[in-house]
Amino acid sequence: MLTLMRTIACILLALVFMAPAHAGVLNKQDLMRRFPAPMMVGERDSGLPVWPLFRQNGTVTELAGYAFESLDLAPVPGFSGVPLNLLVAIDAQGGFLEVAVLSHHEPVFLDGLGEEPLLQFVRQYKGLSLKQNIGIDNGAAHARWQDEAHARIDGVAKATASVRIINQSVLAAALQVARTKLGFAQGRDPDMIARVRPELFEAMTLAQLLDAGLVRHLRVTQREMERLFKGSAGAGLDAQALSRPDEVFLDLYVALVSVPTAGRNLLTPRGWRTLAGRMNPGDHALLLISSGTWSLSGENFVRGSVPDRALLKQDGLPLEMRDLDLELALNDTALQGYSVQALRVISQAGLDPAGALELSFPVTRNKGVIYPERIVRDLQLSYRVPARFYVAAQGGSKSWDGVWQERRYELLALVFILALLGAALTLQRRLTARAGRFKMFRLGFLLLTVGFVGYAAQGQLSIVQLTGALQALMAGRSLAFLLFDPVSALLWVFVLVSLLLWGRGTFCGWLCPFGALQELVGKAARLLRVPQWRLGRIADARLKWLKYVLLAVIVISALWPGSVTDLLLELEPFKTAITLNFVRSWPFVAYAAGLLLASAFVYKFYCRYLCPLGALLALMGKLRMLNWIPRRAECGTPCQTCRHRCDYQAIKPGGEIVYAECFQCMDCVVIHASDTQCAPLIMERKLARTIPIVSASGSRR
Ligand code: SF4
Ligand code: SF4
Repeated sequence: MLTLMRTIACILLALVFMAPAHAGVLNKQDLMRRFPAPMMVGERDSGLPVWPLFRQNGTVTELAGYAFESLDLAPVPGFSGVPLNLLVAIDAQGGFLEVAVLSHHEPVFLDGLGEEPLLQFVRQYKGLSLKQNIGIDNGAAHARWQDEAHARIDGVAKATASVRIINQSVLAAALQVARTKLGFAQGRDPDMIARVRPELFEAMTLAQLLDAGLVRHLRVTQREMERLFKGSAGAGLDAQALSRPDEVFLDLYVALVSVPTAGRNLLTPRGWRTLAGRMNPGDHALLLISSGTWSLSGENFVRGSVPDRALLKQDGLPLEMRDLDLELALNDTALQGYSVQALRVISQAGLDPAGALELSFPVTRNKGVIYPERIVRDLQLSYRVPARFYVAAQGGSKSWDGVWQERRYELLALVFILALLGAALTLQRRLTARAGRFKMFRLGFLLLTVGFVGYAAQGQLSIVQLTGALQALMAGRSLAFLLFDPVSALLWVFVLVSLLLWGRGTFCGWLCPFGALQELVGKAARLLRVPQWRLGRIADARLKWLKYVLLAVIVISALWPGSVTDLLLELEPFKTAITLNFVRSWPFVAYAAGLLLASAFVYKFYCRYLCPLGALLALMGKLRMLNWIPRRAECGTPCQTCRHRCDYQAIKPGGEIVYAECFQCMDCVVIHASDTQCAPLIMERKLARTIPIVSASGSRR
């Protein structure tokens, strides 16, 4: 068996690397149809996969925006593991002109909820802007609202993970284009940026500002500058540095004056008002107060432009700073005579006051005249706003961690349920000691699995997660998309651990909502005396192979993403029965209901013979470490009690447990512990109760 599994694994691996990769699908003609006159579509950009859109304005042809496919810029795998492809168009100010679905494989929208809710969802972006922090409201319907800085759009019930992934794809792709093409120096999600506390002001002197870290100081002498060029072609080129080594090359004070305590203490009240008058909501300003032989402005600097002698980065990405061309006066007389430069960072650039700002001041020395060699050395300064002067990001992350945050109570409840199950299964002796109590516990747990894990938390694991992961890996994408469904992610972790300990039974016997539903139907059927059909041993064993065949077909089809896989995945009734509460077109409802009905006659029919996920877990269960089902010598030889009582026919005539088919229902464990059910124990008890006949001579007969 192990060699067979290894061979299958090798074949799968080989096929993985042979499978085709993904790319955008639209061409210029398609775009021209979507953006007809007066819009004009330019040639596709060679650097970035975008099409410029132009508009004729009188005799002037002006840039109207850009159109692009999310697949090319932010191929975030959808819930099916295959990225959705969305056409996105933004105008030159970052406003959304258009968002449309080009392709998707989202199970919930494929004959689930249907495509209309998906199309309605993406239509909401039109008219919104990247300047707003766009959030999804999964609560009340029609909760849409917006103001200058914020926008809330309606989510889609039962499709939380998918719409979050769509939102992230749209924003990530658009922010990338905005950053590269529209001067949005850095495409950061506005929702994830801390906000400076405008109301907080503490009177401070320059020394106190330095102590607090609101002002950073950098003082460099000529000697230190010369040392910086040591060993380079620039060494010794600056005669002034050599002749007056102790002279101050640069004496610099830097402050983020959009923080009121820094701005209002450094600048005169008039200076502060002048600066505030030039700032838009969310903008930041850095104040560079400098003196020394080296000027930050430089001889070619044009006021109001982007300085080339002062650069800013955050998280390794450049943030554009533009000179505000302001004459600002300082409060502190000690800084009289210093040059003061205020540089603005626009809100779209996404400067996060909670993060470290990396400033660098490139000093250039030229060697030679005709074709001078430029040798550059950077002076570096790091700046971080103390925590009490800003409010950490409030909004939910557009990424997966926002979903975990939002669903934390469900996750806590799930952790409790999993801990309860883990403890119960570990203490199986105590759990099964009293058959009646165990029965109640199991029934209660199955109801919890259907009610909470299934319908409330939507934690129905599915083969879709396997095919999704496979397709993401084949296309070289991360598996982070699985984290958009935290309940399933947590369940998978628990299931993988339980597979190593106990095998497939923990999930299939206790945690699968559809499995539990079948079991409850089976139990109800027995109560109602519905005739039960138990296949013969050989027929049962043969039919059980079917699920492995179905698994293989689905996995192989997934190597070539396309509609075949979507169709094959419908073999699983989970989407109909659990995700969509049977609210779906009749063929799917009939199929799912038919399987439940079948389990009224053949115990857990779908689980034992058809379920590809069950087959996968059975295969993974081969890694199981514990033979946790207690046996005794008589099991199978000759006692057949458990074998006959095992509803899953997971015990061989010889007494051996077929763990791949065991659902950890514990029935045989209860029997094993019961001296009223376990034949050898019954015999032992009978023998123990037998009063030996003692002859007159005292010997027993
Ligand atoms: S076999 Fe399939 S349906 Fe049954 S419990 Fe396991 S995963 Fe669920
Ligand atoms: S009766 Fe025993 S062998 Fe059969 S499924 Fe239950 S725990 Fe497994």
